[in-house]
Amino acid sequence: MMDTLQRFIFENTAVRGELVEISDTWKQVQARRDYPAPVKTLLGEMLAAAALLSANLKFKGMMVMQMHGDGPVKLLVVECDSDLRLRATAKLGHDVEIPEGAGLTQLVNTHGRGRFVITLDPADKMPGQQPYQGIVPLDGDSVAVVIENYMLRSEQLDTKLWLAADANVSRGLLLQKLPQEGGILAHAAEDEAEAWNRTVMLASTVRTQELLSTDINTLMHRLFWEETIRVFEPRHPSFHCTCTREKVANMLKMLGKPEVDSAIEELGKLSINCDFCGQHYEFDAVDCAQLFAIDNTSDAIQAAGSVRH
Ligand SMILES: [Zn+2]
Repeated sequence: MMDTLQRFIFENTAVRGELVEISDTWKQVQARRDYPAPVKTLLGEMLAAAALLSANLKFKGMMVMQMHGDGPVKLLVVECDSDLRLRATAKLGHDVEIPEGAGLTQLVNTHGRGRFVITLDPADKMPGQQPYQGIVPLDGDSVAVVIENYMLRSEQLDTKLWLAADANVSRGLLLQKLPQEGGILAHAAEDEAEAWNRTVMLASTVRTQELLSTDINTLMHRLFWEETIRVFEPRHPSFHCTCTREKVANMLKMLGKPEVDSAIEELGKLSINCDFCGQHYEFDAVDCAQLFAIDNTSDAIQAAGSVRH
């Protein structure tokens, strides 16, 4: 089974849909780090959601979806680029207990100070242009509801999500009201509301266990057999980590020479593992000395620029 994302629209309505199933990619994420089952569920659901939202990106670049937690889970992060290449990781607190069956609120929003962040980072930014970032409180007790609320408030898009993940697969279904496009799809308002309510009702019959155990083609037919659906060319999510030795070097430069020198003195060398893919990077005393040996002006300007943050 290849990881697949299927976009579709309900003919003669202003409702679009997407189904995604991610197995290989999800297993690659888990191969690097083993998480407790409740964390796996949340991260897997975010993985499906990030692919579903990224499939509608109108630019080349990257979407980063983060949940910052104030409980046992400190951070859940999924990155997906416009080619549906994904990576994901979770950060837990030290010596925390993850109770069996714990949900989003218990794990990530224990004291109500959790944050949901979406960053859209186009590849071809203008000089000085910052990535777009939306930050909201964690409003909802599931990944799906948090994202639905975000999409409604920040993007003014009616969106419904059904997500499920276990160790084997992460699957998701998205329905979204198409943004109004000045009369080309001139449907009466009540027709549109009716089509939206009807398709959401059909999709709502899906159960978590059913999502986990049913391939997306079967799901589409089972849920929407009464509807006329137009499907688009399927796309295939994959695992890809963007880490490089150069990026790690830049991070060390941003820490500053005194910090790096004292770490080298204490440890002899610096060992850094990528949180996303587990790739191991080592910097010994000579490597670190080279980082700060600025030998031409353009490097000097770049270094100064990256420290200012
Ligand atoms: Zn990596």
